[in-house]
Amino acid sequence: MATVIDGKAVAQTIRSEIAEEVRALSQKYGKVPGLAVVIVGNRKDSQSYVGMKRKACAELGIKSFDIDLPEQVSESDLIKQVHQLNVNPDVHGILVQLPLPKHINEEKVLSEISLGKDVDGFHPLNIGKLAMKDRDPLFLPCTPKVMLLKFSFMLSCNVDFILCCHTSYSFTLATCKKACIELLSRSGVSIKGKKAVVVGRSNIVGLPASLLLLKADATVTIVHSRTTQPESIIREADIVIAAAGQPMMIKGSWIKPGAAVIDVGTNAVDDPTKKSGYRLVGDVDFEEASKVAGWITPVPGGVGPMTVTMLLHNTLEGAKRCFEKNH
Ligand code: NAD
Repeated sequence: MATVIDGKAVAQTIRSEIAEEVRALSQKYGKVPGLAVVIVGNRKDSQSYVGMKRKACAELGIKSFDIDLPEQVSESDLIKQVHQLNVNPDVHGILVQLPLPKHINEEKVLSEISLGKDVDGFHPLNIGKLAMKDRDPLFLPCTPKVMLLKFSFMLSCNVDFILCCHTSYSFTLATCKKACIELLSRSGVSIKGKKAVVVGRSNIVGLPASLLLLKADATVTIVHSRTTQPESIIREADIVIAAAGQPMMIKGSWIKPGAAVIDVGTNAVDDPTKKSGYRLVGDVDFEEASKVAGWITPVPGGVGPMTVTMLLHNTLEGAKRCFEKNH
């Protein structure tokens, strides 16, 4: 049976560390990190994600700037709002909740966010740097960043496997690579050439996740909606990152025995036994896959709680850079 990685517990540990660092910054500089969360319209799922992010800020002592705009807001007014946040010295991170209404060009809005405040890591320049050899983005996109922590967590459990970048939560890719190599050499683990398969190629999860794995010297294959016979490709993988948004599409028989499976998928499926009428499942058939994999993340309780935590971590990083520069 696979080791089930408890994302909630790992997230809780990291959140306590962030809260401690926020307190230390407040004592040293008399200031705390600030995160602006911009939401347009009333989509229920977006409202719920934004609510979680704002609540988490409050719990950790990060100041939350709440910008709620109506569905009909124009693209230029939204961009004006972003510009105001860019120059607000108390704001160290700006998050524009996606998706935006159809009349607004998401890429245009995201590219207006100041690079130093792009805590979601979606600015084209940050993504571009992620894609370049020997260049590091200022911020890593939050969900793929979770992946690194999961692996570092697994490594810290001294497992005999892959991978990637250890992070001491204060990383640039360069430092985390160094730490990783040290960790790996201590654990007797080689990173080069391990086979990773990322299922999904979206700008926010699949693509950056595959770039990160590539930077960590894994041999990366991307499976997407046009891939034929995905099971034969996934069966080869030492690491599977599932981010297709397809409920339980990855079966136990698709998993290589002992592989590490990170399930990003979060899909609501009908369940009349639940009060809500639905339950959340991942892209992986957990019951089957957990009998074959070496490590697996559950849904819910795996990647989800960690993603918000990584956003707060990025905000802390942004604030630290700013305080140190102006000190
Ligand atoms: P998306 O719809 O933008 O992208 C899905 C990707 O999967 C596409 O690249 C598509 O080509 C690929 N795909 C679709 N069907 C496929 C199939 N049958 N086989 C192989 N590939 C297929 O979705 P996204 O925004 O990248 O999110 C993916 C999933 O991750 C969703 O379930 C989403 O809810 C979840 N998600 C979770 C978190 C978290 O923090 N837990 C964060 C972001 C997204």
